[in-house]
Amino acid sequence: MISFYPGPSKVYPQVADYAVEAVHQGIVSLNHRSAGFMDIVKETVRLLHEKLDIPADYHVALVSSATECWEIVAQSLTAACSLHPYNGAFGKKWAEYAYKIKPPTNLSEADVLCIVQNETANGTQVNMETLAQFRHDFSALIAVDAVSSMAGITLDWSLADVWFASVQKCFGLPAGLAVLIYSPAALKRAEEIGENSHYNSLLFIHENFSKFQTPYTPNGLGIYLLMRVLQQMPPIATVDATTKKRAIDWYTFVEQEMNASPCTLLNNDLAVRSDTVIAVQGLEKEISIIKKAAQQSGIMLGNGYGDWKNTTFRIANFPAITEEEIGTLKQFLRSF
Ligand SMILES: *Cc1c(COP(=O)(O)O)cnc(C)c1O
Repeated sequence: MISFYPGPSKVYPQVADYAVEAVHQGIVSLNHRSAGFMDIVKETVRLLHEKLDIPADYHVALVSSATECWEIVAQSLTAACSLHPYNGAFGKKWAEYAYKIKPPTNLSEADVLCIVQNETANGTQVNMETLAQFRHDFSALIAVDAVSSMAGITLDWSLADVWFASVQKCFGLPAGLAVLIYSPAALKRAEEIGENSHYNSLLFIHENFSKFQTPYTPNGLGIYLLMRVLQQMPPIATVDATTKKRAIDWYTFVEQEMNASPCTLLNNDLAVRSDTVIAVQGLEKEISIIKKAAQQSGIMLGNGYGDWKNTTFRIANFPAITEEEIGTLKQFLRSF
């Protein structure tokens, strides 16, 4: 089955070998305070900086999920409350989780702006020009959920203080691990707020990662797989060029070559179209037929999500997907 699901998504085929390696070499049995394990964490953090071109002064930590990052931002980096301009299901969920921890009593005192860079639910994105505008207009911290774009496109790290992504989307890895990136300003803010009453308080995480350790027994296998996948990954500028070219091709394809089908693109505004998740809409019945037929041809399309659950399907445009697989899906859609 070829998977175009936008998360959990296709993993790099090499992950199977890396997992065998991790077991055979005893990596999964290493004590997480041992030198051997700390070396893996250190190398993973170094590779993230190198391959994703993260500024040297931005810190990197590894946690369990993007959902955990939503809570870390609320508990450790938000003094009053956070602002959540959103247009889809993931942005809405983030706001709901954050407001359970820091109720939005006075939004005019909001001290964190929370942006979902790529809304996986409907295939829209906040491009770097728009993010630059937010940076210009908002003087406090900016936190960005880049779950379905990090490691797929170039991000301008300087435009926000916190960035995070779980690895089951563009990183092409199994779920259960997330990358949390934070600027010196974010760390300073965490120190001013001084919140340190949780196992995943940012200050406690930071203290542990300064020694390449983690507050709790981490997903050692996931960290090792991340390190191995980063080793094989080209620099982000190269990945970015491929992703953007494939995205343009996908949008052109849906507009010009799916004439026989009644499907259209969900987003007509070029400025907000996602590079990594292509959302195609149609009538509920048609969408259901296409998804089933695809399944029978060995192709897994992404279901719609949230408000667009039954009237869209989604195509992941993630780096682990090959040209050949894209060709197979195009062939199927053309003939449909
Ligand atoms: C998948 C996704 C999440 C949730 O990630 P988890 O690892 O399940 O916590 C959050 N935000 C966006 C934009 C996503 O696509």
